Amino acid sequence: MLSTTLAGSLPKPAWLADPGAQLFAPWVPPADRLPEAQDDAVRLALLEQEEAGIDIVSDGEQRRRHYIWGFLEGLTGTDTVRLGKKRTRGGKYVAEQDVARIVGEVTRPRPIMVPALAFAKAHTRHAVKVTLPGPMTIVDSALDEHYGGGEESLAMRFAAVLNAEARALAAAGADVIQFDEPCFNIYLDKVKAWGIRALEAAIEGVTCTTAIHICYSYGIPRVLAWKQKNTEWGQYAVTLPLLRETRIDQISVECAASGVDVAVLEGARGKDVLLGVIDVGTEEVESPALVAARIRKALPYVDPARLFPCTDCGLVPRTRQAARGKLQALVEGAQLVRRELGG
Ligand code: ZN
Repeated sequence: MLSTTLAGSLPKPAWLADPGAQLFAPWVPPADRLPEAQDDAVRLALLEQEEAGIDIVSDGEQRRRHYIWGFLEGLTGTDTVRLGKKRTRGGKYVAEQDVARIVGEVTRPRPIMVPALAFAKAHTRHAVKVTLPGPMTIVDSALDEHYGGGEESLAMRFAAVLNAEARALAAAGADVIQFDEPCFNIYLDKVKAWGIRALEAAIEGVTCTTAIHICYSYGIPRVLAWKQKNTEWGQYAVTLPLLRETRIDQISVECAASGVDVAVLEGARGKDVLLGVIDVGTEEVESPALVAARIRKALPYVDPARLFPCTDCGLVPRTRQAARGKLQALVEGAQLVRRELGG
């Protein structure tokens, strides 16, 4: 019980990507040396998670500049070089954002993340999680210049290619496949209208554990400014009961830095809950006692066997030192509560 995991990303070493650039940081090594540098970074990311004692590890998303682009770049019909402008995330954090463009037929000519999974599995004995962007979040984060059929049909198109990738990852031995859907906290009407259906299409027939990560975005300054002002934290009360009716196995929620009342987790009864107990928006490392207190608050609503202490979101904007400290605090906090529960 209380197995630990992380939402996905870890900060990249400065020799791999400029740490000051945070999201979308350009690669430092030239193209011909990049694969070897990424391999080395993945080894370090796995080692740091193992040293901290994290149970279910990821490759720290060391091979992708951005969590959505890493998938889009493996498809035909997408352009992550010449970007477009779009209002994304309901304009919550910034009026307009540079986004990838959809410029042709979207197909998946070959597996995208399967080689990276094989590498990770060869270098750890821990269970491995692979993260993919969710269909709704991809659609919100891309400018459609090709299809013009609206968001729903585009989401179903991406759900089909995500499903092919997820099936291939499961066949290649992924222990958990997680779809990142921060947009489920933004467009509640669209979640009901087609978001859940697109998610179900993405996980259909996937034989390993499936997860959805729903957060209030990265711990970066413009998001932190929004969080400080925000007073409406009722989104999970809508989405969790809807997800409870699906065959998704795990739901990852942001509870450390948000104003979410953990009582809302009652609505996810029967599902595994990846409980965010690590704030990814600050360099300050939590004490194990604070992590334990955050875990205890959820125990009335989640069976300990289904509770996975986790980070709120990706740690990519943090320093490596802070990320290491936070992983350690996560593990030690979980150990405190596990002992109390007699585990
Ligand atoms: Zn997130």
